[in-house]
Amino acid sequence: MEFDEKRYNLARRLKEELSLSEKVYNAIRKVPRHLFVPERYKSEAYVDTPLPIGYGQTISAPHMVAIMCDLLDLNEGEKVLEIGTGCGYHAAVTAEIIGKSGLVVSVERIPELAEIAKRNLYALGYDNVIVIVGDGSCGYAEMAPYDKIYVTASAPEIPKPLIDQLKSGGKMVIPVGDTYQILYVVEKDDGMKKWSWGAVRFVPLYGKYGFRDFEE
Ligand code: SAM
Repeated sequence: MEFDEKRYNLARRLKEELSLSEKVYNAIRKVPRHLFVPERYKSEAYVDTPLPIGYGQTISAPHMVAIMCDLLDLNEGEKVLEIGTGCGYHAAVTAEIIGKSGLVVSVERIPELAEIAKRNLYALGYDNVIVIVGDGSCGYAEMAPYDKIYVTASAPEIPKPLIDQLKSGGKMVIPVGDTYQILYVVEKDDGMKKWSWGAVRFVPLYGKYGFRDFEE
């Protein structure tokens, strides 16, 4: 089966199982996940599972990317902060939804992965994504505030800088926890409201407001 047909089948299945919005379905349907994974995993690119991308990291499972996009209720023209670029797939899906008038600012701590992501995104023409190498647990104050923020690695607690960098009326989706992790949706207004979506499994968020890396 060709990649396009496999991607169509995956997107249809996720749409039915998760009641995905049309915009998230269209983005999953469009972004070629097989071009974001290492050569030896291409044949598994449209299986709904995380896959290794090197440096001990993974590309998130398509259902998780879709769920996080829908929880954030992404809209055309928004400025979105992603923490944990990995190979750039989730950023590409977000970029599809927010369109050319929007901007994804994505922070990755591993320079080699940031390079791979930049190459992948550039090759596919996603010029509405900026990839930055740094400690995303501190957010990226230079381009704040953001309409939406999402974190693709699990934090010990919600990093304060991320709350500070979220616009009033903005939303954040973030996994929190160590061996047992919960995906939280945070809504910022005059105060902050948060509710839990459910249990998830992510790699750890390292850094100043994350877990301590054994190499640090
Ligand atoms: N967004 C990716 C995708 O498209 O599938 C998945 C990324 S992977 C599950 C999580 C990423 O978070 C890894 O690439 C890891 O290096 C990164 N990460 C962990 N701690 C970080 C930090 N403090 N700042 C930035 N990136 C971090």
